[in-house]
Amino acid sequence: MNLLDDLRVRPGAAPRLDHRDPGARLGADSKSDGLERLGKLVERLGVLQNRLYAEGRRSLLLVLQGMDASGKDGVIRSVFAGVNPQGCRVEAFNVPTSEDLAHDFLWRVHARCPARGEIGIFNRSHYEDVVAVRVRKLADESVWSKRYAHIVAFERLLIDEGTSVVKVFLHESKEVQRKRLQERVDDPEKRWKFRVGDLDDRAKWNEFRRAYEDAIRETSTHTAPWFVVPADHNWSRNLCVAEILVGALERLDPKVPPADPGVAGLVVP
Ligand code: AMP
Ligand code: MG
Repeated sequence: MNLLDDLRVRPGAAPRLDHRDPGARLGADSKSDGLERLGKLVERLGVLQNRLYAEGRRSLLLVLQGMDASGKDGVIRSVFAGVNPQGCRVEAFNVPTSEDLAHDFLWRVHARCPARGEIGIFNRSHYEDVVAVRVRKLADESVWSKRYAHIVAFERLLIDEGTSVVKVFLHESKEVQRKRLQERVDDPEKRWKFRVGDLDDRAKWNEFRRAYEDAIRETSTHTAPWFVVPADHNWSRNLCVAEILVGALERLDPKVPPADPGVAGLVVP
């Protein structure tokens, strides 16, 4: 519980990324303890997701943001290993298409939100529209600066209609990003993930940092909080996200629907 409180950004508070250690190993005393705990959480997540699906009334949306190689894909792979893909919806947001751009910035996002009973996972999200768009100067400040309020209102709409919203910023250090990007270059199996443009983003590290600071401060609310998760160590990163998710689902406390009358105790001939 304490762990989650430390990671959560209180409404209106600055996330103060410089004061948060990306190399912190939170959630367990050692890697082996951490992996053991993660295994239990992964299993629990599977049970809770099954109930959420069976209940079919509510949904949960996990928003994953972070710089390149901060581990968004790794979280999805590890934390959701025990979840039935049938009740899960992973959406990766890439550069908007011309059709996307012909609409407001939330148009493509709303269409990809989880249905009742589903867990939705956003690999990048509408936050690109106040971070990447700002840093790459794809829109004027007069446009992107108004989006914080629209995002808060949009997420409130989702919540009022039955979707819990959990937002995670994977907080990686610049040095660990360098190592991970180098690995992508060096490993032929990973090379496809590397785009030359990734280096432009890396060169704008401080600008991205500032944009994330502002976005998190402007949009962390009681009902849709941001969590800043140290992301330099994969196991600790996965463990923190799993704790956050299981915590959110335990609070929802989904229930399987009641059986048909007379089913309990029935002996199937
Ligand atoms: P990746 O997640 O590494 O495959 O890359 C996706 C790319 O799409 C990143 O460079 C994002 O910044 C970019 N992207 C996603 N959404 C937007 C958006 N709304 N506007 C501009 N760029 C975006
Ligand atoms: Mg990339």
